[in-house]
Formats: sequence, structure tokens, C-alpha cells
Amino acid sequence: MSPHNEQSAVTVLGLGPMGRALAAAFLAAGVRTTVWNRTPGRDDALVAQGAVRAGTAEEAVATSPLTVVCVVNYDASDAVLRRDSVTDALKGRTVVNLSADTPDRSRSTADWADRHGVRYLDGAIMTPTPTIGTPDGVFIHSGDAALYEEHRPVLEKLGGTHTHLGEDIGRAAAYDIALLDIFWTAMTGYMHAVALAKAEGISARELAPFAKGVSSILPSLMDELAAEVDNGTYSGEGNPITSAASTMAHVIHASEAHGIDAGVMRAAEGLVRRVIDEGHGSEGPTRLVELLGRGR
Ligand code: NDP
Repeated sequence: MSPHNEQSAVTVLGLGPMGRALAAAFLAAGVRTTVWNRTPGRDDALVAQGAVRAGTAEEAVATSPLTVVCVVNYDASDAVLRRDSVTDALKGRTVVNLSADTPDRSRSTADWADRHGVRYLDGAIMTPTPTIGTPDGVFIHSGDAALYEEHRPVLEKLGGTHTHLGEDIGRAAAYDIALLDIFWTAMTGYMHAVALAKAEGISARELAPFAKGVSSILPSLMDELAAEVDNGTYSGEGNPITSAASTMAHVIHASEAHGIDAGVMRAAEGLVRRVIDEGHGSEGPTRLVELLGRGR
């Protein structure tokens, strides 16, 4: 008997580093996997592992009830999916778009899918390629719950944790952008800190153990501050925002003394100053959420 059956067949469109990792994980889990990429030649290793090579995207989507798209963004997934021949081949089949983009792009893609009889789920991948196919992978999904349940067994072959966040198709992308907001501002902060430390004769390796100490404070702080934000309280007990403003000013001063751009910290300090100018200097950092939520 073949190890594969039609229900556990999947097509992967997009064979960048992440698309290749997804296809390899499906194959390793015994799922019949058809692959296609805009630029040919990215599928050789996958084909050697048993993937079916499709000559065109329409041929690829026609071989499986489920297509997973993982390309750079939704301009790219539109360029693949919205060609008439591909859209026709997708009719009655399911697409899960795991490319990263914004919630409004997820919603407009869902409208397009609805108009063309394509069953559509959205999702995002929160962890890097080496985690795919391992327990460390983190996938988030949104859209019709029954449709998600139908395809969950195949999606879970990717390993890791899969969470359906709700029926609003844009919800996975909304989580994704909020989490990317944390990741990229934190990464920029870390790179800036390393540049500043180096200017003071401290190597990145010397700083790293202390940098890890800073990030280990964050998990409990996130829970604590989340409770405050959701309760609408801004307690600055032990952590008034005036104190934050003072230490931020030190970072700006020390950076600029070394000729290092302090623009990121200046932006952060500017927000804190607005809170203080509005008379909330004794309150905590959660007041920033309220300030930002009001818009400019
Ligand atoms: P990229 O984000 O660089 O995407 C590369 C893929 O996009 C290739 O298959 C490329 O095809 C395709 N592509 C780009 N433009 C077009 C287009 N106009 N038409 C058709 N295909 C196009 O690499 P990744 O594979 O790493 O990422 C894919 C997605 O996964 C991204 O949205 C990324 O944010 C997300 N992601 C990636 C992670 C990672 O660790 N790499 C982690 C979490 C999420 P071609 O080969 O022809 O150029």
C-alpha cells in the first residue's frame, strides 16, 4: 500500500528557505508533497527526498486538496495565485497562506478567494527554519474554524504547536505584526547597545551575558503590564516614567558623544516626554499604550 493518500497530499508554492523547510517537513512526515517555485532549480534536494516536481503553479495546485503558499509577501502570493489558470485550478480547493504580511492583505485575499470559490485560511510562522518539523516550531492560523479542523491533521505534520486564533481571517497576521514589532525594535535596541558598548571598549561577547539578563526580566514584566493594560491602570509603583526618561537621556547622551545615531532612543524618549508633559510622570510605561492608542 502507498504510504500516501489523497487526503494527506499537499502542494507547497514558494521554495525560499522557509518553503523548502515546510516541504521537507511534510515529506519527512510521509505526506505526498508537490512543489513549485517561480524560479526553477530550487526543488532538486526536495525531489531527491521524494517530492513531486510540478512544471507550473496550476499543475501544482491541481494535485492536492490543500496548497500551502509561502513566499516573501502578499504581492508575491497574488502574483502566483491570481493568475486565471491558477485561480481556476484552485476552485473548491483550500489555500493556506503562510507568507507574512498585514491583516488588511489577509482580508483582501479572503475576499478574492470567496469571489472565486477558493477555500481560504491564513496563517503565520513565528519561528525560524531550523524549528520546522521539530517540536519548537510555532504556527498561528485564522479563518473558518471548520475548514481549519479539516486540514489540521496535515498542517500538524509540520510539527510544533499550531494555534487557531479565531475566525477573523486577519487575526494571525495581526498577531504576527505585533510580535514582529517586539522582535525588530528589540533587535535594533540590541544592535545599538552592542555598537555603544564597543565604542566603550566592551566586546559583544562581554556584554552578552548581561544582555541576556535584561531579556530574562521581560517575560514576567509582559504578564504584569498586560494585566495593567487590560485593566486600564497605569501604576508607576517602583517604576515611574520620569525615571525611564532620565536613563533614556543617558543612552542618548553617551551614544551621541561617540557619534552613534541615537534616533531610535530619541523616538522612545520623545513618547515618554509626551506622557510626562501631559502630567502623567508618576505613572508607569503602560501609559504609553494609552498615548499611542489615541493616534497622533
Ligand atoms: P523570502 O521571504 O525571501 O521569500 C522567498 C520566496 O518568495 C521565493 O520562493 C521567491 O521565489 C518567492 N517570491 C518572491 N517574489 C515573488 C513573486 N513576485 N512571485 C512569485 N514568487 C516570489 O524567504 P523565506 O522562504 O525565508 O520566507 C518566506 C515567508 O516566510 C516570508 O513571508 C517570511 O517572512 C516568512 N518567514 C520566514 C522565516 C525564516 O526563518 N526564513 C521565519 C518566519 C516566517 P524565487 O525563488 O523565484 O525568487
